[in-house]
Amino acid sequence: MPQLVERIVRASTTLRPRVAHRATILDESGEPLDEGLAILFPAPHSYTGETMLELQVHGSPVVAREVVRALIACGARLAEPGEFTRRAFFNGKIDLHAAAAVADVIDAETRSAARAALANLGGGLTATVRGVRGAVAEILEEIAAAIDFPDEVPEPPRAGIEARLAPLLTTLTQLRRDGEIGRLVREGVAVAIVGPPNAGKSSLLNALVGMERAIVSDIPGTTRDTIEERIFVDGVAVRLLDTAGIRSHADRLEAAGIERTERALSAATIALVVIDGSAPLTPEARKLLDRTRGSERILLFNKSDLGTLGAREYGGPDTIVGSVRDAATLDALRGAIARVGWSGERPDASRPHLAALYEFEAVNGAIDALESACATLRTQQPLDFVSPDLQRAFSALGHVTEQVAAEEVIDGIFSRFCIGK
Ligand code: GDP
Repeated sequence: MPQLVERIVRASTTLRPRVAHRATILDESGEPLDEGLAILFPAPHSYTGETMLELQVHGSPVVAREVVRALIACGARLAEPGEFTRRAFFNGKIDLHAAAAVADVIDAETRSAARAALANLGGGLTATVRGVRGAVAEILEEIAAAIDFPDEVPEPPRAGIEARLAPLLTTLTQLRRDGEIGRLVREGVAVAIVGPPNAGKSSLLNALVGMERAIVSDIPGTTRDTIEERIFVDGVAVRLLDTAGIRSHADRLEAAGIERTERALSAATIALVVIDGSAPLTPEARKLLDRTRGSERILLFNKSDLGTLGAREYGGPDTIVGSVRDAATLDALRGAIARVGWSGERPDASRPHLAALYEFEAVNGAIDALESACATLRTQQPLDFVSPDLQRAFSALGHVTEQVAAEEVIDGIFSRFCIGK
C-alpha cells in the first residue's frame, strides 16, 4: 500500500493521516492524470480497519476510469461486492447487524427506508439485545447458585423471576414489531391487481402510476403478461402487479395468464380485486370473489359512471364502488392499501430495528423460550426446570450480540451487496 501511494500520488508534503491533501494523481508511468485530493487513512483508523487511500478526482467518468486503470496497472484490483464491509466485519470494525444495515443503505430506495437503515448503523439494536441477554444470564446464574449451594444460597422467588422476565419479553416483542415495520419500509408491499378481463385493471394501474405504462384496450385479455409498477403510499413502496384476467373458457394463452394471476396472488400480500360493477356479476367475477375471500384484499367495483348493478348485486361490506377515472376513487384505494398493508398508521422506522432474517429468528426464538420459562414458573415445578428455557433464550440472543452467526448467514448478508462497498 505505501508503495502504491507513493507511485500514484504526488503531493507537496507527505500525507498526514486523515487530512485532505491537494495532489497530482499519476498513472503507472508517472504521467499526471488529474489534480485532485488524496486522504490517507492509516490502519486501524479506517472503515475496514486496514490502511486506506481515498482519492477525489474530477467528475469526468473518463478521468475516474483512467485513475482506476492506472491503479490496477500498479497492482491494485477492484473490490468484490461487499468486500469493504466484509473486511470491516472481519477486522472487528462493525458488527454483523451494522453490515446488514450498510447493505440496506445501499439498497434504500425511499427516504424512509434510508432513515430506517441509518437508524440501524448506530448499533443501538445490539446494545438493547445485549441488555436483555445480560439480564437473562443474571437470572440463570442465581438459579444455578441456588441449585449448586442449596445451603448457602436461597432460591430466588418465582414471582420475582417472572416479574423480571416480563419487561424483557416486552422489549423483545417491541423489537419484533419495529422489525416488522422496518421490513415493510425496506421491502414494501406487493399488491396484485386481479380481475376479469376488461374490468379496468390496466386503467387502474395507469391511473395509480400516472403514466401510460400498461396498454389499455377494449379487447378482453390483452393483458397477457404481468406488469409491475412501483408507487409510494405513506413513504412505503407499493409494488403493483397487474395480471391477466381470470377467464372460465380459457384458450392456452389465457390459461398461462390465469396461472400468472395465481402466481401474483401468492406472491402478493394484498389482492386488489377489480370487477366491472356496472354490469351483472359474471361467473369469473364470482369465482375471483370466492378465491380471495379470507385473504387480505381490497374490492373495487369499477365503472360506477356506467352503473352499479354488479356492485349492488354483491352488496358485501368493505367495498369501494367508484371509477378509476375518478380521483376520489384513487384516493380511497390508496387509503385502503395503507389500511390493509400497515393498519393505516404511517410506519416509523427511525428506531433501530431487526434487519436480517437471522435476527428475526433469534428474537423469535428468545421470545418463545422466555414465554415457556414463565409458563414453567407458574406450574410450581423445581426451579432448575426453568433453566433450559433461559439457556435457550440466552443462546438465541447470542446470534445477534456475539456474531455467532452461521457461515451461510454471513455469506447471505454480503452477497446482497452489488457494489464494492
Ligand atoms: P383490463 O382488461 O382489466 O386491464 O381493463 P382495461 O383497463 O384495459 O379497461 C377496459 C376498458 O374499460 C377500457 O376501454 C377502459 O377505458 C374502460 N374503463 C376502465 N375503467 C373505466 C371506468 O371506470 N369507467 C368507464 N366508463 N370505462 C372504464
